[in-house]
Amino acid sequence: MNRVWDTPGGIHPPANKRQSLTLPIGYPKLPERLVVPLIQHIGEHCIACVTIGQQVLKGELIGVVDGALGTSVHAPSSGIVSAIEARPVGHQSGSLAPCIEILTDGLERWVSRPKTRDYRQLAPSQLLERIAQSGICGLGGAGFPTATKLTFNGAVPISTIIINATECEPYVTADESLMRERADEIIAGIGIIALLYDNTPRLVIGIEETKPEACAALLAASHASAIEIVQIPSKYPSGGERQLIYTLTGKEVPSGRIPASIGILCINVATTYAIKRAIIDGEPLISRVVTVTGKACGTQRNYQTLIGTPVQHLLDHSGLDDSRLSKLIMGGPMIGFDLPYASVPVVKTSYCILAPDASELAPTAPERACIRCGFCAEVCPVSLLPQQLLWHAKTADHQRLEEHNLFDCIECGACAYVCPSHIPLVQYYRASKGEIDAARADKANARQARQRFEFHQLRLARLEREKNQRRKARRAAAGSNPSPSSRIKAPKASIMRLSSADIIAAAQGRTTEKKPTAEQTLNKLRRNVSTLQMRLEHAERRLAAAAGETADKQNSLRATAEDARQKLHRGEQRLTEQYH
Ligand code: SF4
Ligand code: SF4
Repeated sequence: MNRVWDTPGGIHPPANKRQSLTLPIGYPKLPERLVVPLIQHIGEHCIACVTIGQQVLKGELIGVVDGALGTSVHAPSSGIVSAIEARPVGHQSGSLAPCIEILTDGLERWVSRPKTRDYRQLAPSQLLERIAQSGICGLGGAGFPTATKLTFNGAVPISTIIINATECEPYVTADESLMRERADEIIAGIGIIALLYDNTPRLVIGIEETKPEACAALLAASHASAIEIVQIPSKYPSGGERQLIYTLTGKEVPSGRIPASIGILCINVATTYAIKRAIIDGEPLISRVVTVTGKACGTQRNYQTLIGTPVQHLLDHSGLDDSRLSKLIMGGPMIGFDLPYASVPVVKTSYCILAPDASELAPTAPERACIRCGFCAEVCPVSLLPQQLLWHAKTADHQRLEEHNLFDCIECGACAYVCPSHIPLVQYYRASKGEIDAARADKANARQARQRFEFHQLRLARLEREKNQRRKARRAAAGSNPSPSSRIKAPKASIMRLSSADIIAAAQGRTTEKKPTAEQTLNKLRRNVSTLQMRLEHAERRLAAAAGETADKQNSLRATAEDARQKLHRGEQRLTEQYH
């Protein structure tokens, strides 16, 4: 019997999982159009490598990684590229991102798939290359590029790999259905990961004890392997990376560090399944299991869903009754966010679409003032002080927020769940993190600009020094050879050889050299839009929270929000123009 350690805090909300597990994983009909965003997770945007009108096959590469941290994207079905443009994507601000739209032809014609039954013959570097080329990122939420994660190595070698099979958020059953039905492939994926390490790390699957069917399936599939399966008590958020590591090993990941720094990697169970499909079946990540649930749906079920499928298509397939819909959430009720449009596509990190009626999730109640009850601190799994964080977030005191370890907050929403004042605490924390990140980026840019300036000054000083040295040398030479013709006339002649056309051409050349490339401009505009979105969100939140303030204060906040909205609009316009 493996020992488990108890984590602080946590809550026990109603699970609401059974309703989406009564049917096996389904397959929605093929949408007429698939919209594949070129950014779907943490990391850099992809660059489209197809053109409008181009025929593509299922699984064909359509977006290549632009930068060290990113994953490529592939056509989820065969068809024709009908648009490459900015479209709304799954974000509560309804923000735009560059997307590739594919008009499907219904034939599902695959690109050639390099199936590898003897994958044990492949070197770790070849396996990693295939994982990277298959566009796999973590499917548990944040979507960190998997090939990058698997190459992490801290001061200590990786000694334990934890497979996160907890799926502790209410309503969500995508991983559980996968474990019940495809345990063999999950175990094969874990076996592939183990091949990447020389020292054969300890392999542990952490699963909640409330999933007996999934646990039995994994046990049956792993009976001949060295994989340990450890059942842990059910509590939200037991599946947070740091929480699960502590529960299974008793080790704490130091603040500001990653698990690899203590020799541990944590990988979501659906990601191991995607690795198996990529290496053994030669399939890139073009679909994932998505839970579609909530009482407004006629059928609550898990679907193997193509990336790029519009959420509305999934809801229609599930028999959504619009009149019952209380809100539409992408993700679960704790971590998810309200979707402004149902037209946005499913992406690699979309694990749940929740369409509850008012009896399940009432519309968000108005926020009231904090009454300092302390309930939020009692449930925080990271032992933070949520009410203090709230206070400093409202006053935009970044220094205090960092001192109170804002970045250790895993945004689990447990504090907001118990808050009697209905304060959307996580939204405040997310906005503050965005502001701090933006401020850090500004600071880094300012530092770079200062370094560039200082370098320029040093260069000017060096040139001046060299000029003086040359002048002294010429004088010294003149002392030994006083002939005026050799000392004065030669440089004059060389100046005379430059025509005005030459001077203009040289100046133009220097200007062209300094001009940023289209790609650099696009990246800069994307960063700008993302910063402006965060500023708008923060301004709107401050305005919403100012209900009890004076009219002057409210007007001032309203003007700030309007200004932020207009700046975002202009930023998005510039991005769209540059994109074309
Ligand atoms: S639970 Fe809400 S009201 Fe209570 S201390 Fe925390 S933020 Fe304030
Ligand atoms: S959202 Fe952050 S502050 Fe709130 S309980 Fe979770 S970890 Fe703690």
